[in-house]
Amino acid sequence: MGCRFTSKGAVETGTCEATDVPGLYVAGDSSKDAQFVIVAAAEGAEAGMAINKALLKEDLAQNRSSTPSRNRRGEPYAKSG
Ligand SMILES: Cc1cc2nc3c(=O)[nH]c(=O)nc-3n(C[C@H](O)[C@H](O)[C@H](O)COP(=O)(O)OP(=O)(O)OC[C@H]3O[C@@H](n4cnc5c(N)ncnc54)[C@H](O)[C@@H]3O)c2cc1C
Repeated sequence: MGCRFTSKGAVETGTCEATDVPGLYVAGDSSKDAQFVIVAAAEGAEAGMAINKALLKEDLAQNRSSTPSRNRRGEPYAKSG
């Protein structure tokens, strides 16, 4: 996939588990020397939040509204103004 590796063979990651390949995040044993379940879970959560944020940002950049247009019952929200 084109990402870089550390000298120990783990995938190199930076902030929030992002690799240097845009849109590619790596969490858990593949990216760390410390191999513990709790570390993998924490990194997964961190990467998940970063991915969500990136997708929302992309949506906003494309001028799409992130506000839901329908409620839980599928009914459209009343337009204000
Ligand atoms: C024997 C042993 C004992 C351990 N004991 C502890 C302990 O007591 N406490 C602790 O905190 N940690 C322990 N660990 C470490 C812990 O298991 C790992 O740190 C943790 O599971 C890492 O999670 P992960 O999601 O990164 O990888 P994994 O849990 O390994 O999950 C990776 C998953 O990807 C799947 N996979 C691989 N290749 C592909 C593919 N090409 N396509 C689709 N799926 C694929 C695998 O089958 C696997 O299910 C232990 C590890 C081992 C080996």
